[in-house]
Amino acid sequence: MAVVLGTRPEIVKLARVVRGLGDRGRIVYTGQHYDDNLSGSHFRGMGLPEPSVRLTGIGGVPRGRQIGAMISAISDGFEADPPRAVVVQGDTNSTSAGAQAAQYCGIPVIHVEAGLRSRDRAMPEEINRQVVGVLADLHCAPTTVAAGHLLAEGVPAERIQVTGNTIVEVVADSLPSPEASRALLRRYGVAEDGFVLVTLHRPENTDDPQRLRLILAELAGLGLPVLFPVHPRTLHCAERYGLARQLAALGAVDPVGHAEFLGLARYARLLISDSGGVQEECTVLKKPLIVLRNSSERPEAIEAGFATLLRPGPEIGRVARALIADPALPERLAARPSPYGDGSASERIVELTLALAGGPARVRVPHTSPAPSGVRANRRAAADAAAPVASPVPSP
Ligand code: UDP
Repeated sequence: MAVVLGTRPEIVKLARVVRGLGDRGRIVYTGQHYDDNLSGSHFRGMGLPEPSVRLTGIGGVPRGRQIGAMISAISDGFEADPPRAVVVQGDTNSTSAGAQAAQYCGIPVIHVEAGLRSRDRAMPEEINRQVVGVLADLHCAPTTVAAGHLLAEGVPAERIQVTGNTIVEVVADSLPSPEASRALLRRYGVAEDGFVLVTLHRPENTDDPQRLRLILAELAGLGLPVLFPVHPRTLHCAERYGLARQLAALGAVDPVGHAEFLGLARYARLLISDSGGVQEECTVLKKPLIVLRNSSERPEAIEAGFATLLRPGPEIGRVARALIADPALPERLAARPSPYGDGSASERIVELTLALAGGPARVRVPHTSPAPSGVRANRRAAADAAAPVASPVPSP
């Protein structure tokens, strides 16, 4: 089996699946996140093995070129040594490329965190999700809401499994003890329940100078100190728009490791973020979150009362101060279950992957001649057609 990943959230959310597959799995690392603070440190922090394939020169190039280069390089590897199944996670360019490469090589695709939909076509992630929604053979939906989206799009029910979201068990694995978390607070100079933890990196917030300026100004007026692990994209944009000083004044630090982030989040008074994963983590940590976005593909966290979706604008300070000032909020949230599952999603996904991979192996169809107009023939279609008469190839 191969697990294709290339960004921070994929490393975090697939950690248990990779460990569960053990020797039966290999990591194909796309290098989409090439900053060590977003990738290498997370590989080490999550205790993942070295990737068997590591692409280079992928990060920081335009999207079409990035996805195209990844598909090409990953396909080469799959053709040379085909895995029996390929696991991808979420909605990144790496997710799309991994699923496309596998599908075009005739290898079954398992999509983890399938079926999320914002219906916001301005978000590259939404397009990636929908592309993978068409390609996947098995859709591991984190919730029944996500499964419902897939059914509505015509995905047959037998290809959908509601597994929960792997983040639930990853948080349980990685959350530092209360003492270690308090030591982190001391290291970062913030007080228990006395600061706001912020992350921002979506283009809708970072790439528009007016919007970024407004967000930073609102964050400066919350009445509590801010701790802001800054994504490289946000830093780059702030420097470009002359906002570096405002950012530095907001408790800006380099991105932190996942365990550190969780340790800080558990004792923050409020989280403010445009992240996808933080919308799930807040439900496990029982923390209030303001989601600074035009739209969210994670209605469950909002409906369960953990998250408040807020279009970035002059309301940020007012809404944040109201949440900070609500004395009963921590107790209310502490009593609510996470809508993202029971902490067994990774184990379910490993079992489902092994079952899918254990079926008859796809038949490899050698290329005899190039396909017309340079487009490669779809091996899956050829393999499916040949399946009844061909014997399976041995497992790689
Ligand atoms: N995260 C982290 N360190 C940080 C900021 C975030 O480990 O300094 C984690 C966070 O806990 C979550 C993941 O990164 O698990 C989310 O990644 P990101 O926001 O980049 O991606 P998204 O979830 O929006 O796709």
